[in-house]
This record gives sequence, C-alpha cells and structure tokens, in this order.
Amino acid sequence: MLLQGKKGIVFGVANQRSLAWAIAQRASEHGARLALTYQGERLEENARELARELADPALICCDVTKDEDIESAFKRVREEFGSLDFVVHGIAFALREDLEGDYVDTSREGYRVAQDVSAYSLAAIAKHAAPLMEERGGSILTLTYIGGERVIPHYNVMGVAKAALDMSVRYLAWDLGSRGIRVNAISAGPLKTLASAGIRGFSKILAHMKEHSPLRRNTNQAEVADAALFLLSDLSRGVTGEILHVDCGYHVMGI
Ligand code: NAP
Repeated sequence: MLLQGKKGIVFGVANQRSLAWAIAQRASEHGARLALTYQGERLEENARELARELADPALICCDVTKDEDIESAFKRVREEFGSLDFVVHGIAFALREDLEGDYVDTSREGYRVAQDVSAYSLAAIAKHAAPLMEERGGSILTLTYIGGERVIPHYNVMGVAKAALDMSVRYLAWDLGSRGIRVNAISAGPLKTLASAGIRGFSKILAHMKEHSPLRRNTNQAEVADAALFLLSDLSRGVTGEILHVDCGYHVMGI
C-alpha cells in the first residue's frame, strides 16, 4: 500500500486503454483517493463508468485549454480533499492533419494547439496544484515520448511539444523543489490508445520497436503504471526532474 492515505488528481482518462487510467487503477489499488478529470460531455459517461471501480472518487470536468476550468478543478479538489499529494498529467493533443504529413507543413494554429494542450497545461496545472501540496510536499508526473528527443516520422508537431514538455519538467522541478514538490516524467514506449490511433503509420512504429528494443517486445500499460507508482510514492523521494524511460530499453538503441 505505497499510496495509503494519499490523495491525487488524474488528468487524461479517456477510456480503459488510457495510460492515465492504468496509473489511476494502480494508485487506487495502493490506497490512494482519486479525483479523475474528463474533458467534456463526450467522455463524461466513460469517466463515470471507470470511476465506479474506485473508492470514493471525485469526478471533475476540465478542459485544460481553459484557465477557468483548471482553476475550478483545483477549487473542487480543495473543497473535497483539503490537500493533495500527487498529480498525474496524461494529456496530449495535436490536429490530425499535423500527424499525417510533414512537420514543415505545420500550421501556426496546429503548433499553438499542440503546445497549449500537451506542454503548457503541465505548468498551468502545477501552478494550481502546488499550494495544495504545501504541507507535505508532493509528486507531479507527466507522460512523454521519445519523439520529443529524436525524429519519429509523422510524430511531427507532437514531438516538438514533447520536447517542450520535457524541459518543462526540469524547470518545474527547479521551481517547486524548494517546496518539497517533485516533478518527473515517464517516457513510455508506443502503446495502442485513442491518442496514438491518430498518428499515421503507428502500427509500423509498434512493429519496429518490438524488433529493435533490447527486450524485443512492446511496452504495456501495466508496466507504465508500476513505474508511475514508484514516482508517485515516497520510494522516489530523492528523484525529481527525471525522465524515466519505460520503453523496453528502446531509447538506448541507434536504430
Ligand atoms: P488517451 O487515452 O487518448 O489520453 C489522452 C487524453 O488527453 C485524453 O483523455 C484526452 O481527452 C485528453 N485531452 C486532450 N485534449 C484535452 C484538453 N484540452 N483538456 C483535457 N484533456 C484533454 O491516450 P494516451 O496514449 O493514454 O495518452 C496519455 C499521455 O501519454 C499523452 O501525453 C501521450 O502523449 C502520452 N504517451 C502515449 C504513448 C502511446 O503510445 N500511447 C506513448 C508515450 C506517451 P479527450 O479524449 O476528451 O480528447
């Protein structure tokens, strides 16, 4: 029970395949009380259905492109939980056309949207989470991908947003470290989810990784959730600003 007595908020649960959901389940199994957010009415029913598996959850509607939504989400958390121990940020979005062609064709609007939802939202969320973590410190975790470090064809503008997200982890770790708040990321190997379904050629990426990663297989949701449990719990109390690759070792390879 590594998270017994801890309270967390999880952003990015769309369905059962969501990485954020795998992490939420694992956190709940380890004793955490959770607030789950969903983006809008379209996914409210999904979130409600999944939340039935959790003990005493809070369900909060939050579109991270709206400052007022983020503000009211944390107001709800303060009212219901009083304080907060961890945040899981499992959110990313890019326009579909920007994940199909060439990066050079990215529109100004496509670039703005990808950065806003996928990178800026971490800073906005951290700003509101920090005051609720003041007493005991806390752990903020986001999810990134190797496409922010190296070129993965068709990942395009999302790779550029992930690079910004990775640097945000490091700047936020410095900003919030003096308040006992740690900020880390898991760089997950490719997995089939709603978000990854929008990337052209994604099945080729999966096949390539299976053949070329040191473990000769693809990553699964459960192993991302286990690594998240470590980063959210006190076991990782000396770790911040870290990007932990949970990708069957693929990141060490030259091909
Ligand atoms: P997912 O289930 O589709 O989760 C993405 C989530 O982001 C969805 O819940 C989505 O909600 C939410 N979102 C998008 N725009 C939002 C907004 N404006 N406000 C609030 N929420 C918003 O896919 P996933 O693969 O688990 O993605 C979770 C994270 O893991 C992402 O950061 C992704 O880049 C990262 N990651 C994924 C992989 C992979 O291969 N799957 C690998 C490495 C890292 P809606 O569905 O309502 O838009």
